[in-house]
Amino acid sequence: MADWMVNLVPFASDNYAYLIESDDGLAVVDPGEAAPVAAAIKTLDKPLRQILITHHHGDHVGGVAALKATHGAEVVGPKASAGKLPLDRAVSEGDRVDCLGAELTVIETPGHTLDHIAYYTEGHQGLFSADCLFVLGCGRVFEGDAPMMWNSLLKLRALSDETLVFCGHEYTMANARFALSLTPDDSALQAHIDGLQERRDQGAPTVPSLLGDEKRFNPFLRCDDPAFQEALGLSGKSAAEVFAEVRARKDRF
Ligand code: ZN
Ligand code: FE
Repeated sequence: MADWMVNLVPFASDNYAYLIESDDGLAVVDPGEAAPVAAAIKTLDKPLRQILITHHHGDHVGGVAALKATHGAEVVGPKASAGKLPLDRAVSEGDRVDCLGAELTVIETPGHTLDHIAYYTEGHQGLFSADCLFVLGCGRVFEGDAPMMWNSLLKLRALSDETLVFCGHEYTMANARFALSLTPDDSALQAHIDGLQERRDQGAPTVPSLLGDEKRFNPFLRCDDPAFQEALGLSGKSAAEVFAEVRARKDRF
């Protein structure tokens, strides 16, 4: 397997683009701004082969046109937005994308937007979850509904515990405060958050996180956990109903 690594490109106040690097060159996920990505490409000094888009929001696609114009990379993105995004290749559920010699699988994850997709590589145990799954959180449900978003999260939760989660934003500490407000007696959660806070204190990103940690600590992935439901006073509700309630509480938090 070709070596393959993921470089973080922070931009704006809390966005992450990801610059994937291998012997074959570079690929970028969600370049919301061109300049910081162009600077990182210059530093790594390899050709940009591919631009991968997860959904149509400006903070994820804002830099696509400029990077395409300069580097001529293949633009890959969701079929559901093929009419409004400048795609060379439109992809949907289950499609495989060759990314610098590694295979990415497309997982449709609607809810935040209807076109939202995630990219997963089993070989390198990486998941580009964008604005569906965050560290200790999930995206706001703008275009879909709660059952749709819950179903999308379940698809990501089904991946292996060792999967590294590369999400679209550094929202972790705000998500942590909310998670702890729901289950203040969870000492393991508190210890996990202490570790994340240490990373922030050192000026380091909290991304990537381990999907196994998300399964245990992310409240939005625990909506079918009877102990969690009971702690929230929501026993007997369906998982999608619990998700809707937790998402609503976060929106007001
Ligand atoms: Zn978004
Ligand atoms: Fe975003």
